[in-house]
Amino acid sequence: MKINAPVRKNETLTVDIMDLTYEGMGVAKIDNYPLFIEGVLPDEQAEIEVIKVNKQYGFARLVKLLKKSPDRVESKANVYSQTGIAPLQHLAYPAQLDFKRNQVLNVFQKAHLEIPVEPVLGMENPTGYRNKAQVPVRFIDGQLMTGFYRKHSHQVMPMEDFYIQDPKIDEAIKVVCDILRRFYIDPYNEDTHKGVLKTIMVRRGYYSHEMMIVFITRSKRLPAAREIAIEIKKALPEVVSIMQNVNAAQTNVIFGDETKLIAGRDFIRDELMGLKFEISTQSFYQVNPLQTEVLYQKAIEAAELTGNETVIDAYSGIGTISLAVAKHAKKVYGVEVVESAVLDARHNAKINEIDNVEFTLGKAEEVMAQWQADDLKVDALIVDPPRKGLESSFIDAVGELKPAKMVYVSCNPATLARDLELLAAQGYHAEWTQPVDMFPQTLHVESVTKLVRQ
Ligand code: SAH
Repeated sequence: MKINAPVRKNETLTVDIMDLTYEGMGVAKIDNYPLFIEGVLPDEQAEIEVIKVNKQYGFARLVKLLKKSPDRVESKANVYSQTGIAPLQHLAYPAQLDFKRNQVLNVFQKAHLEIPVEPVLGMENPTGYRNKAQVPVRFIDGQLMTGFYRKHSHQVMPMEDFYIQDPKIDEAIKVVCDILRRFYIDPYNEDTHKGVLKTIMVRRGYYSHEMMIVFITRSKRLPAAREIAIEIKKALPEVVSIMQNVNAAQTNVIFGDETKLIAGRDFIRDELMGLKFEISTQSFYQVNPLQTEVLYQKAIEAAELTGNETVIDAYSGIGTISLAVAKHAKKVYGVEVVESAVLDARHNAKINEIDNVEFTLGKAEEVMAQWQADDLKVDALIVDPPRKGLESSFIDAVGELKPAKMVYVSCNPATLARDLELLAAQGYHAEWTQPVDMFPQTLHVESVTKLVRQ
């Protein structure tokens, strides 16, 4: 194929950066031909080298920054952007929030949606927020080390300060690694598929400070597991749960099927919206506890509940939104496709003594159709789907069930815009969208949209 691009591979150019894509790449244009460049920001000038030329667009790499953006933050270490653990860390936080608002505005504009988009609700301290870590363990420079994968690669770059994780988790990982070295635990080798320990996972309750350590191993046996657990409990009094998960497969998937208790109990406790939650090894639990409360609060506000309503929480996970909404509604129906999450949700309802919620296992689009067939009267519908958004059959079911109000919690502006267009066709008018920054320093954009039926 002959490519008619105004640039050639390996060519060096001086360019002005005019935009930042949703993937965090700087954009320069040569005669309208876009070049995407990692690590540069709008309003910067850079010397670049073209590395790939496609028909419609190309890629280049930064050679030298000639003019810096006033929003550039000199990073502590570029290991964060090299690993993609914090791909926006070179952009000042207020500019990150503008960037995220613009992502939403742009997709709305393309879809001809005229919905007011509020300024993003950000964090006062946008680092150290993650309550969960999953770090690969490898043999690096002669010893067992943790780190993170280099972008587009399986190479683990050594790292002990993970920047966006709860510093207590980083600290615990260091202590645990020291103990593992003392017991000569063999780190996993991805090339030979040998060795024992693949990944360490840590969870820490934001309010409870309870900690869980999970060793994900290739081998069935973790040598000296009991002794290691005793040392960990001595060194880290917050640890209440030490678990092992076996994943013998050669795969990118972190967890295997078999999970065993090594010491303590098999869950940690935490709180969210004043409610108690028990979180086990593989439960889905929001990773930014402070911002989750901001997000849920917005969702509850948007639903304008008086206590008399019947509410559906679709894609309910372990029931966090359902349980937070329960005290503002007469009855809440949750629906979720993962069985263990539904069991967690029912359990969490019980420990909080909430009896006006009911969780159904199944696909939201199918259960919605069933509720409609059962002639369920629904006042408000809250949805929090995965990145791919709502199935069109789900949107059809909304049109049949006709809730007066709807709240759309989205983690992907592109599918949000698509779905809002389809919902408009069902008579739902979007009043506003409120982005909430759940993942500072990263490219993720989360938002709440309020809709009313006309
Ligand atoms: N509202 C929860 C979970 C949101 S994540 C919270 O805030 O914690 C999205 C959830 O949708 C996941 O739990 C996923 O298992 C579930 N899910 C994905 N596809 C689904 C489907 N077709 N029907 C029902 N649930 C689904």
